[in-house]
Amino acid sequence: MALRLKSGIRVAATVIAVASAMILLGRGGHLLSLDRLASDVRTAAIEREAGGEIVFLGIDKKSLDALRVWPWPRETYGRIIDSLVADGAREIFLDIDLSAASRPEADAALAAALERAGGGVLLPAFVQNTEAGGASPAMSANLPLPLFRGLSWMTSVNVVADSDGVLRHYPYGLVIEGEGVPSVAAFLSGVSGPTGTAFEINYAIAPGSIPAFSVIDLLEGRLDPATFLGKSVVVGAHAVELRDNLSVPVHGILAGSVIQILAAETLKQGVAIRAVDPAPWIALLATLVMTAAALRRRARFRHLLAGLLLAGLAIELLAFHLLSRHAVMLPTAGLQGLLFGTGGLFALHELDLHKWLLLLAQIDKVNSQRVLARIFADSSDAIIVVDETGGVLEWSGNACLLFRTSAVCVKGADLRRILPDRIAKDLMSAMVDLRRGIWTDPGMRALTMVVEGGMRHIEYRVTPSRLSDVRERAVTDDRIVASITARDITVRRVQEERLERIARFDTLTGALSRSEFVERLDADLAKASPEARSAVVVINLHRFSVMNATLGRSVGDALLQAVVARLKRSDTGMSAPARVGGDWFAVSRPCGEGDDGAAEMAAGLVALVSEPFELEGTVVRVGAHAGVSVQRSGAKAAALLGDAELALDEARKAEGGAVRLHDPASVDRQRRARLLETALWNSIENGELFLAYQPQIRLSDMSVIGAEALVRWRHPELGMIGPDEFIAIAEGNGFIETLGRWAMGQAARDALTWPNGMTVAVNVSPVQLRRGDVVADAARVLRESGLPANRLHLEITESIFVDGNGTLLEKLHDLRMMGIRLALDDFGSGFSSFSYLAKLPLDKIKLDRMFVQTLAPGDANAAIVKSVLMLSRELGYSLVCEGVETEEQRDFLRDLGCDEGQGFLFGRPQPQTDLLAMAS
Ligand code: C2E
Ligand code: CA
Ligand code: CA
Repeated sequence: MALRLKSGIRVAATVIAVASAMILLGRGGHLLSLDRLASDVRTAAIEREAGGEIVFLGIDKKSLDALRVWPWPRETYGRIIDSLVADGAREIFLDIDLSAASRPEADAALAAALERAGGGVLLPAFVQNTEAGGASPAMSANLPLPLFRGLSWMTSVNVVADSDGVLRHYPYGLVIEGEGVPSVAAFLSGVSGPTGTAFEINYAIAPGSIPAFSVIDLLEGRLDPATFLGKSVVVGAHAVELRDNLSVPVHGILAGSVIQILAAETLKQGVAIRAVDPAPWIALLATLVMTAAALRRRARFRHLLAGLLLAGLAIELLAFHLLSRHAVMLPTAGLQGLLFGTGGLFALHELDLHKWLLLLAQIDKVNSQRVLARIFADSSDAIIVVDETGGVLEWSGNACLLFRTSAVCVKGADLRRILPDRIAKDLMSAMVDLRRGIWTDPGMRALTMVVEGGMRHIEYRVTPSRLSDVRERAVTDDRIVASITARDITVRRVQEERLERIARFDTLTGALSRSEFVERLDADLAKASPEARSAVVVINLHRFSVMNATLGRSVGDALLQAVVARLKRSDTGMSAPARVGGDWFAVSRPCGEGDDGAAEMAAGLVALVSEPFELEGTVVRVGAHAGVSVQRSGAKAAALLGDAELALDEARKAEGGAVRLHDPASVDRQRRARLLETALWNSIENGELFLAYQPQIRLSDMSVIGAEALVRWRHPELGMIGPDEFIAIAEGNGFIETLGRWAMGQAARDALTWPNGMTVAVNVSPVQLRRGDVVADAARVLRESGLPANRLHLEITESIFVDGNGTLLEKLHDLRMMGIRLALDDFGSGFSSFSYLAKLPLDKIKLDRMFVQTLAPGDANAAIVKSVLMLSRELGYSLVCEGVETEEQRDFLRDLGCDEGQGFLFGRPQPQTDLLAMAS
């Protein structure tokens, strides 16, 4: 009994809760659109006829087409009124805006017609920007002209659409300029209501049942005169073109005048829709449902559902009946919601929520198991799960492949028989450790297995897990399993080993790599006793790059291999040779007290490498330089090697001596070189570079005919730095291209201001000539500066021809074709070969100052100068003698026949202004 009471209360509580929710929803307007929809459906199903007392005389398309003007002249409305009055119309509503004046005679004609109608005409008035609820004094009223107002009735025509843009409500009248003005509908129907209140139009009245005629048919006398007898006539727009259309329920879009008629018909037939408050109805229905539930407690759910459905149907029928018979709108959404809500809750109760949730959980579990099983089976890793007895619980497809034993793929197989010992031990001890609470993850482990056909490297990871179990009706965390994921990394390992070998050895020569050399030497140094010392020798092949370019890379490679082979063979107690740079090799050796032993060894190695090689059928000779460093206390291998390399740099620069011992002072020079190297890059931007000009003199008359541009660098901290120091650095780091381009441009711009066609000579570095596009640079400089080409001289040195490169020759030809003059600089200082002089496209030869300065009448230099002079005459070159410091030198050279001179005697490299002062 108590149980029944309890469930009864629950049912009642449910129903009341749903009912209250529905009432609240309704009050909040949340059911409005549902109710409107239902009401529209009902309205559409009901068909009401218009009474026929109100007739629509439409300004339709036919009428517009016939009269061809719009707006119509007011005389026309006068004629319409006259005709209707003549036909005995009871009253006429002219739904036309007459608030503005038109032509006076037209207005007068209409006013006359209104007068003749004797007050039977209604005219529209409306307020603009009206909010729902009527006009406020601030709003503008559109009234018929006073002229018409006195002769007619004023009626309001304002309508206001609902929030959804659909017109349902219609006012009884409006307050316009302080006066109550009845609406047209109220006027025509004779039914009035409080001004400012509205009624709901009954759209069940079919617009098609309103008698309707066309204005033009009236005007042209085509209508039966009895048509309008005793009728109210609404004259208004019906043509779509006139856009007086509004959105309404059921019928979609209707013309404004038709809506006025429907509103009037609604009032006339007394069928304005009255909406009732659904709350009492909901309360009533809730009581009914509760009573029914209480009476038929054990009713089957099916019956209950049928009952609810029937109740819903009954409510709809009732609503339909109320609307069609009594024009009463019963909002049924809340009622249906109550039925639906209680039905749904009953259904949930019936279906047993718990069962559903359980089912869902089971589906979820099955799904994730399936996904896991798929992942497990398809995993590229081998996975095996075992339990504490060592039996295999699960295995993945790849496990069989990886461990190559078919036993793995059998459930229950003993892992100790099928897996490598170490893995089996790891698995078992992981489970034991987890049980004892001392397990820590060792991470990935590696193992090499011997399989038929070689080694197999695998990587694996073991993880134990604790599972839940049910023991004696209680859940325990007592089961422990372990899994192993493993993968074959043989390919990767082989790759790694190869990379390691590459890192340790130079692939071309088989010599040690630089890093390997340093590593081994460090190990040796660590092992050696404190008194023991080590020496490092670095050797570099002389002119290897030239040889590589001329004989080809394959010979170059063969040479490097042969050098290493020789170094390996020479057994002087030294380490394996290392290739520490392109053509730089290093060896190390323990050495005694003095450094002599090391220097001797280095000299021996240089001699060894300088022996001719026979490569690919040609005999190749290369020279070599060597740098030596002997360990200072506590030095590291890398520093030792670095010192030897610095010494080698010195050896390469020095004349003669092929071997250099490391000298800490040279470290400072190197440091400065490195500093300059980086500072150079910004020197142009920072305006630190500038040109000095050294005059060039025609010896016959001592006139200044040109100048050589010599670059200068004023560094903000280091002061003036000479080109002898930084040009080599710029050539080394590639900055020379930028520098050369800048110098050429600056010199050309400067020279343009010089008098008497003075020439400017610009030095072009061999590196710049080889790597940069000097031809294009020169062309641009000439174009941009406007300097005539024959005033630009470029000075090149012999060293470029050592490479014997054909394209260089082409570049020189191109430059000369442009009209630029070429001078061979420093002739006699380097390779001085007469043989190629004839092959070069030259204009001038500049005899190196070395010759000039050691000149004395009758000696060998004088003979050389003479023969150079003869040769240049023959080839059509002029001769410039550099480094003229004394008057004797000048006179001697002039007497020999030298054309031009340059030297401190005539002028030092100087600012342009000084040069110009001198030239004038
Ligand atoms: P270089 O082309 O042989 O320039 C002539 C050098 O001899 C200049 O040294 C000049 O000052 C010096 N000199 C001139 N007359 C006498 C003399 O009577 N007695 C002595 N003892 N020396 C004299 P500087 O200016 O130090 O230039 C050195 C070298 O730097 C130049 O030698 C040239 O090879 C290079 N250089 C200078 N400016 C540039 C440049 O703009 N581009 C390139 N690529 N190299 C440049
Ligand atoms: Ca020069
Ligand atoms: Ca020179």
